[in-house]
Amino acid sequence: MSAFAAACAARFGDRARAEAPLAPFTTLRVGGVAEVLLDAHGEGEVIDALQLAAAHGVAVTLLGGGSNALVSDAGIRGLVLRCRRGAIRAEDDGVRAEAAATINGLVRHCIGHGLAGLEAWAGTPGNVGGGICGNAHFQGRLLSEHVISVRLASRDGACVVEVPTAEMDFGYDRSRVQRSGEVVISALFRVVPGEPEALRETARASLAFRKRTQPLHLPSAGCFFQNPDPARDPLPPGMLASAGALIDRAGMRGARLGGAQVSTVHANFLVNTGGATAADFDRLARSCVERVQELFGVRLREEIARLGPWPQGKP
Ligand SMILES: Cc1cc2nc3c(=O)[nH]c(=O)nc-3n(C[C@H](O)[C@H](O)[C@H](O)COP(=O)(O)OP(=O)(O)OC[C@H]3O[C@@H](n4cnc5c(N)ncnc54)[C@H](O)[C@@H]3O)c2cc1C
Repeated sequence: MSAFAAACAARFGDRARAEAPLAPFTTLRVGGVAEVLLDAHGEGEVIDALQLAAAHGVAVTLLGGGSNALVSDAGIRGLVLRCRRGAIRAEDDGVRAEAAATINGLVRHCIGHGLAGLEAWAGTPGNVGGGICGNAHFQGRLLSEHVISVRLASRDGACVVEVPTAEMDFGYDRSRVQRSGEVVISALFRVVPGEPEALRETARASLAFRKRTQPLHLPSAGCFFQNPDPARDPLPPGMLASAGALIDRAGMRGARLGGAQVSTVHANFLVNTGGATAADFDRLARSCVERVQELFGVRLREEIARLGPWPQGKP
């Protein structure tokens, strides 16, 4: 056992595990092991873990719900930090949710307390930390539209700051966290009073939409690619600014490499049909990118986060 793994075990007990498989903690169900996988409860433990890693010169990778992550088959060296047990509470003019809170838990909390704003996000997998990092989106809306401020820790756990939304550099699939490497501790969401039954109705409509349009019966990471931005990537005439439509028109719907397949239900979902490896998803993603580029001159960019080593980089 490494000195770092031993120090983690001494501080966090059996919530720090050495050489722990990561596939069960991702919705794609692929990937190798974490050198040390730690479940941290609350801000204090997250800060302790970051400081411990910094003191040992160990790299830290954050894993939330693992619903937007492709973990390398080679696993992840260093510390894989999972924020767990996210508290949700009323605060000033909003609701504060810790990074570990699930988006669904936050939606349920708000509806149960007659608070409107987030109900349409029902059914979005993952946690608040991951949702803020990638600025989750649904039906043209960004999660950041509901955010007042975000509490961030520096990667070494040395300082914690409350950052107003205006300084978060939020955009489509973008936040400052992706550049700075800061760790999301919690976020304060704007809500207004609402009638629970009406909120529930909106939530049900979102869930029904997902059920109708997404291959929820198979492991996936949601949309694998970002939708193209026509201002940056000119599209062929009549083509929707939709990665799924481009992959579909490129004839890739249903294409399979190993256990990974372009979903037949939604062409921007790459699904695990059983026994897939991360390398299968990598090869399939590359062939989608190449084919779309070749046929339409549009370069697809990945929406998922690749974690662990990827010697060839992104396609
Ligand atoms: C069936 C399905 C449907 C989906 N539908 C949508 C959708 O409608 N809209 C949408 O936007 N996404 C969707 N997704 C993708 C996913 O749900 C979101 O991107 C979600 O916000 C990811 O959160 P997560 O906690 O699972 O993040 P992870 O996958 O665990 O991590 C994603 C990134 O965030 C980083 N991260 C995680 N926690 C922290 C933290 N505390 N601090 C700093 N960085 C952190 C990770 O290092 C990684 O880079 C879908 C996924 C699935 C499987």
